[in-house]
Amino acid sequence: MRLMRFGAVGKEKPGILLADGTRLDASAFGADYDEKFFATGGVEALSKWLTSNTNSAPRVSAEVRLGPPICRPSKIVCIGLNYRDHAHETGAKIPTEPVIFFKSTTALIGPHDNLVIPKNGTKVDWEVELAVVIGKRALYVPRDKALEYVAGYALHNDYSERAFQKDRGGQWVKGKSCDTFAPLGPYLATLDELADLGNMKMWLKVNGETRQNSSTANMIFDVATLVSYISEFMTLLPGDVISTGTPAGVGLGMKPPQYLKAGDVVELGIDGLGESRQHVVNFSAEQHYSQFV
Ligand code: ZN
Repeated sequence: MRLMRFGAVGKEKPGILLADGTRLDASAFGADYDEKFFATGGVEALSKWLTSNTNSAPRVSAEVRLGPPICRPSKIVCIGLNYRDHAHETGAKIPTEPVIFFKSTTALIGPHDNLVIPKNGTKVDWEVELAVVIGKRALYVPRDKALEYVAGYALHNDYSERAFQKDRGGQWVKGKSCDTFAPLGPYLATLDELADLGNMKMWLKVNGETRQNSSTANMIFDVATLVSYISEFMTLLPGDVISTGTPAGVGLGMKPPQYLKAGDVVELGIDGLGESRQHVVNFSAEQHYSQFV
């Protein structure tokens, strides 16, 4: 099943994307895709609901905006340097344990929303990533049981402001948390949708030129390892997001480095998880606050 949410910013409704591209309004199911939904068997219940409501559920027009496919989670946990080629291009050593940092949950936006260059931002960079959505509360989960705690997967662009990340006093969270820095979706694919988690092609283009072209096969720590590892240090709640790291090809790794500017268009995709597209715009207080606050 493919879960999506649609409608105006902050007023999204739950929906389902069918295999033929039809968008269904699932409001009548009676629950949005939040912590409670995942914690109480919502995916299974929704699947049953779909069986008897596929024909009668209202259709959603292709022009309607898509929001992030889940409600705002309690946390977005990101993994740094989880692809060998990316670690190399940034001049970092291959980590012996997963590098963990947070991204603020207010960074979350829909898959085709504008990417806003933040005030004083000069080094905004892209990162195509496989995002994991947690399905049930996870603490001290062994690796061989870890995938039982996953509800599904989504495409994520882990946008980063490299000067904020690296030159503003340490820790990465400042460079990862600006509004609009976490376009998620177009949809959340439940487990049954994906054939081989360890071999999904992923790509990203800037203005039509390929920048990243890799596969989840190049991850250092796999999804099961990451879920288990993070649960040693914190409780993961249903609906939480883990973004599993990016392969080589980011702007920081180019010679010379190349960053985004207003007018650029970023497109990305992962096999089985669809594609997203963000237009880059400059920060404008007036527009910004009307859209996001
Ligand atoms: Zn990242």
